[in-house]
Amino acid sequence: MLDKKHYPEALEGAVFSILSTAADELDLPAYVIGGYVRDYFLKRGQKKDIDVLAVGSGISLARKVEELLPHSTKVSVFKNFGTAMIKTDELELEFVGARKESYNRDSRKPIVEDGSLEDDQNRRDFTINAMAFSLNKSSFGALLDPFNGMQDLQDKIIRTPLDPDITYSDDPLRMLRAIRFASQLNFRIEQKSFQSIQRNAHRLKIISNERIVTEVHKIMMCDQPSFGFQLLEKSGLLKQFMPELTALKGIEEIEGQTHKDNFYHTLEVVDNISKNTNDLWLRWAALLHDIGKAPTKRFSKKVGWTFHGHEFKGSKMVYHLFKRLKMPLNDKMKFVQKMVRMSSRPIAVIDETATDSAVRRLVHDAGDHIEDLMTLCEADITTKNPRRFKKYHNNFQKVRDKIVEVEERDHIRNFQPPVSGEEIMKAFDLQPCREIGMIKTAIKNSILDGIIPNEHTAAYQFMIEKGKSLGLTPVI
Ligand code: ATP
Ligand code: MG
Repeated sequence: MLDKKHYPEALEGAVFSILSTAADELDLPAYVIGGYVRDYFLKRGQKKDIDVLAVGSGISLARKVEELLPHSTKVSVFKNFGTAMIKTDELELEFVGARKESYNRDSRKPIVEDGSLEDDQNRRDFTINAMAFSLNKSSFGALLDPFNGMQDLQDKIIRTPLDPDITYSDDPLRMLRAIRFASQLNFRIEQKSFQSIQRNAHRLKIISNERIVTEVHKIMMCDQPSFGFQLLEKSGLLKQFMPELTALKGIEEIEGQTHKDNFYHTLEVVDNISKNTNDLWLRWAALLHDIGKAPTKRFSKKVGWTFHGHEFKGSKMVYHLFKRLKMPLNDKMKFVQKMVRMSSRPIAVIDETATDSAVRRLVHDAGDHIEDLMTLCEADITTKNPRRFKKYHNNFQKVRDKIVEVEERDHIRNFQPPVSGEEIMKAFDLQPCREIGMIKTAIKNSILDGIIPNEHTAAYQFMIEKGKSLGLTPVI
């Protein structure tokens, strides 16, 4: 190993010397491999998760490390996978034994056998992820880089260790990972590799939706998600798992009238919003805000292209898309639905010259998500005309100012009815009945329309009048 370059400085700290001692005590060749090595050379900051490879039993190595570590650090063993994990305050160590894998075409599950370091490096996804640092004392810090990942790091290129058709076909998830790493690291995918992804894109169907979504989330959290989504589209992968989005692609022309390409518009919106938020779900809302446009697109001679009701249609599609991709159907999904459904509301408010009542209704309906909704609408401004760009932003600023003003005065956010159902029942001596709901709605509408202020006295008075108009008689 004397001809190898050594980087002992990459393995500074007590944990690495314990790993080294443990490996030598068991007489096991052991390595730090994968992301840690890559990120060390990329100077991406100290990585928290460290993958440790033993040529032999990863689990035994983990148990030995547990013995040598101070106090109560515990190892978790996953016997079925032949892996083990140790979590300390700062680090997560994942132990595996070197493997050799062979694949069957119809399954992601390989036939696994024990293997050498080289076998294990061969089954890694990319050259830059196959580099390893030796942990054993005699060669501590030696870099084992059989595919010249170092050069690829310098050239900023994603390349597979083996023929890409083999690497991608063996585990099609790697196609998504290629795009994910290219996006995160700002690398390009080697042309031969990208062409192979295009050829193998259909194989993504054997990958579980959960795994797909994990990668999509990571692409979504990049500084410029459009970079990854354009690659997803070009490779043919996006169509495999999100055909709703690729359906937005293209510009149609009838009688000289065109509409914008809603796919590229969407990607611009996602990039815009990513400058202003790290909230994954708000970014999802930006990605999906126009998905209702494909199924609602119509052309008429009178008005040209329309997408009537696309927000409502889109919010329904959000549910189906989340469900299909096995994403959570919880408050996150409901938030995305709400953003999509309300995505045109702030613009409508501008059209109504932002009357107080329109703003109150907007705040009432958006509740605590009003800020997020405004952030989405501002990101939605993709006009290339600087005059219009400025005008639209100014308009939204006016809406924001108005929201603050109306909120200070009327406290509509998280609206609580100033008169309760019980009070209504008491005032007219009622049992639960339809009229109570009608009165409550009338009170709410009067407040939102600015007919009465959001106060108990005024609302109570209004309630009495409204009850009378419904033929009820007040008893107090
Ligand atoms: P991240 O910073 O995203 O965690 P990472 O490189 O650590 O990056 P992981 O998904 O944690 O990525 O995987 C750890 C290592 O395992 C990778 O560097 C790679 O060598 C290998 N690996 C992970 N998934 C695959 C796969 N599907 N096919 C081949 N090798 C893989
Ligand atoms: Mg990792």
